[in-house]
Amino acid sequence: MILKEKKYNIFSVPIIILILFSFLPLITFSQSLENQVSSISWSNNALLINTKDKIIYAESRLKDPDRLVVDILNCSLPATELEKNFKSTLGENISVSQPVSNQVRIIFLGESSINRKAYLTNYEKTLVIKIVRIGDEKDDETISENKDQTELEKYAQGDLKEIEIEGDENETEVSIYATKSVKYNTYLLKNPARLAVDLLNISPPTSPLPKYMATHLVSGVRVGRAANGLEAARIVIDLTNDNIDYTIDPSLLGNKIRIKFRLSRNKEETKKISSLKIIIDPGHGGYDTGASYGGFEEKNVNLVIAEKIKKLLENYGITVILTRDDDSFLSLAERVEITNSIKPNVFISIHGNAMKTTRTIRGVETYYWTHQSQKLAYYVHTSILSNLEIPDHYIRRAKFYVIKHTSVPAILAELGFLSNHEDRKLLTSSASQDQYAKALTTAILKFLDIEPKKDKEKKETEQKKPEEKKEVKK
Ligand SMILES: [Zn+2]
Repeated sequence: MILKEKKYNIFSVPIIILILFSFLPLITFSQSLENQVSSISWSNNALLINTKDKIIYAESRLKDPDRLVVDILNCSLPATELEKNFKSTLGENISVSQPVSNQVRIIFLGESSINRKAYLTNYEKTLVIKIVRIGDEKDDETISENKDQTELEKYAQGDLKEIEIEGDENETEVSIYATKSVKYNTYLLKNPARLAVDLLNISPPTSPLPKYMATHLVSGVRVGRAANGLEAARIVIDLTNDNIDYTIDPSLLGNKIRIKFRLSRNKEETKKISSLKIIIDPGHGGYDTGASYGGFEEKNVNLVIAEKIKKLLENYGITVILTRDDDSFLSLAERVEITNSIKPNVFISIHGNAMKTTRTIRGVETYYWTHQSQKLAYYVHTSILSNLEIPDHYIRRAKFYVIKHTSVPAILAELGFLSNHEDRKLLTSSASQDQYAKALTTAILKFLDIEPKKDKEKKETEQKKPEEKKEVKK
């Protein structure tokens, strides 16, 4: 659940919108129910993609040829504009397309001497992808357009505009919006735990303070005058306990600071892991064999891979429940019933695909239906693609029974085509089944925000190495 409260509106139009407004739109689209691209524009070496809703995106940087691929998830282009290509001022080829029904893909293709940076702005409804020739990056604020801005002008006296608090059990985000780029100092204080943020060039507020809603980590926010006698505003964020870490992330324009509070890693992880439950659902079973090719039955492949995932996740202390752990028949309704009564953190149905009419089609398909399952689908899909030599048969949105009727993040993974010779080899060889299990485990851990064990082990050995060297020297 997300608690949200917006307060302290002095100006109703955010400054960033005014700036974006001045860009010439190349295309303007009409409205629709799902998140949809509303306009695409190009300005100041930046591509701006405006959408109706908050954007969730993933980026990958690929080589040979050098390119940036940005996928906007659960988002579509209007039917009339399914593909758009243009050229940037630095000669980059930019394509905006929709490879599947619910995903917008932007590809920047050009020389390796060009840096590309993607970030969200305008309350996460605008994706900006900036390109800069390497060596020209000095001015990281080209979007503000004024290159001759002196340091003084940059931090000219401004006012506080709005403070926004948003949070759930694990994380709270406090966003501070000002009318000018902010110069700030922070102080983490104890007894009681609180974070003070002095906004050095922002005037103390003159109007009465609003009440802010408390979250699990933040008990309140106060706004007043900085203690050092300056004409500066101080924001004090009261924390619920001493075990909270924070990170500060100023926006590119500097007029928004986002402070993210999280429970300290160790405490959070042990608390979290012991309460986690995952359901893996091996598709089919009993008389329902699923696809059957080359002497292999899908139900058995599904079960073997599910058991391997269970083993890997249990190494983390996570409780894993299989909807079936033998060759028995289980209806779809029973699988859903088990899941909805246990309410796991993740539900994954494992399947093998088949195509009766052709043996040449191969690849991974990952299905999701609900919004909360979208990120899980993305992590699983990309993790399989990076762990196995298998083609991308896309992430798709479909109302399969087990992912439509389950109340938790739920996906159905078609790991490959049993009807295709190469895919069948992957699905049935023990070594690549291990790779599938590893890929799915990595994705589940990523979704649950748990650090994979290998990295931890690596860090430990890296830390030990210098000590060993010292001993040798003695
Ligand atoms: Zn199946």
